[in-house]
Amino acid sequence: MIHIPFDNSYAALPDRFYARQPAVRVAAPALIKFNHDLARDLGIDSSGLTDAEAAALFSGNATPEGADPLAQAYAGHQFGGWSPQLGDGRALLLGEVIAPDGTRHDIQLKGSGRTPFSRSGDGRAWLGPVLREYLMSEAMHAIGVPTTRALAAVRTGETVQRETALPGAVLTRTAASHIRVGTFQFFAARGDRDALQTLTDYTIARHFPKAGGPADLLEQVMQRQADLVAKWMGLGFIHGVMNTDNVSVTGETIDYGPCAMMDSYHPDTVFSTIDQQGRYAYSNQPKLAHWNIAQFATSLVPLMPDQAAAIDRFTAIINRFPDLFAAAQHAIFSAKLGLENADPQLIDDLLALMAQDGADFTNSFAALPRDDARDQFIDRTGFDAWKSRWLDQNPDTAQMARTNPQVIPRLHRIEAAIQAAVAGDDAPFHAMLAAVTQPFTANETFARPPTTDEKVARTFCGT
Ligand code: AMP
Ligand code: MG
Repeated sequence: MIHIPFDNSYAALPDRFYARQPAVRVAAPALIKFNHDLARDLGIDSSGLTDAEAAALFSGNATPEGADPLAQAYAGHQFGGWSPQLGDGRALLLGEVIAPDGTRHDIQLKGSGRTPFSRSGDGRAWLGPVLREYLMSEAMHAIGVPTTRALAAVRTGETVQRETALPGAVLTRTAASHIRVGTFQFFAARGDRDALQTLTDYTIARHFPKAGGPADLLEQVMQRQADLVAKWMGLGFIHGVMNTDNVSVTGETIDYGPCAMMDSYHPDTVFSTIDQQGRYAYSNQPKLAHWNIAQFATSLVPLMPDQAAAIDRFTAIINRFPDLFAAAQHAIFSAKLGLENADPQLIDDLLALMAQDGADFTNSFAALPRDDARDQFIDRTGFDAWKSRWLDQNPDTAQMARTNPQVIPRLHRIEAAIQAAVAGDDAPFHAMLAAVTQPFTANETFARPPTTDEKVARTFCGT
């Protein structure tokens, strides 16, 4: 058995924050993976948990004692367009636990069936996105990026209809919370000032106890977004759907949809088929994070006694985003070069060479200290000249080895693991998970970029 020491605070908020409901049963749950290490970190004793029990609990067929399942309400700007009512259309917050280190975490099922927020959706997830989110989120965590985590993946034994019939699955994820910019927008747009105040007080108490009010909250959420997106940039990570409903106010990466880490570097890279305009292209991410923070600021204005003064004050705050972001990104790329404060030109020149030659983003940085780094480039004379400028700065290669991953969750590998799992073979998923959760350990197999034949150019939102 397993004992989850639930301590639910969101469920104590007013009724209009969520819709309470149990998960919808599935036909034949079968465990793919349970994350015992994460359970232990959360203070959950899972030592006696059988696969059958895990499958029942983390598919929604059995409700763990102390859980109070609910679908959260939120809204959001999707690709710039306003959607007043989104909410958990296929997810349920089971409840919260307080880890031994005192931090509070949500436990949420994703793919657990229809809710009042499902609109035309079936409330389900297929196996592909579940395995993708498991691999991506656990890899990001291992690299050191704030993120939701994966606690369990379970097959449902049912098929879900997408473009074809596909095997269904449920992901259990954990998060510092699932409070999104879109949660604030939901109440602001309805003119529900009381709920907005309650949400703000709750968010400050739970996540930002030092914030004195909405302006402080805005500053701290903004700083966390700047730090987060700078980390993404340092990994070549492209989220793909940076809508305000997919922006956690805690600064964790959330909602892994058509995301990917780049293989060969180009700043204009886009993977998602739904992102026709390249709104969320790699190099646009800082700008869009700024835009999202502006929406957050707008949602906080109704809380302020003098709205005109609040707009001026909030505008002054969010105008600082580009500088905050630039500082965060500069620190990240300096560290990638083993330097305390790299000459920005040195960074730009390397990235320009990489873009020109389509060099592999991850492997180029990982290889820099080695003699064979030049093999990543076509213009080897150009690279040699850059490298001697860099070596003149006495880079700290030990620090680089802790900063630049050797192994990332490469898209073609994820797709291969998904294809195998759809055919019934989970071994590639397990092998990949083991590799990407040891990102700073050399691994020839998983460090290899895709060949031309293996390359996956597009990701699909058909989640
Ligand atoms: P996402 O693109 O995953 O961030 O989801 C955007 C919105 O669509 C959220 O409100 C989701 O709950 C909802 N949604 C996505 N897929 C489904 C589905 N299969 N069934 C019901 N709602 C869904
Ligand atoms: Mg979402």
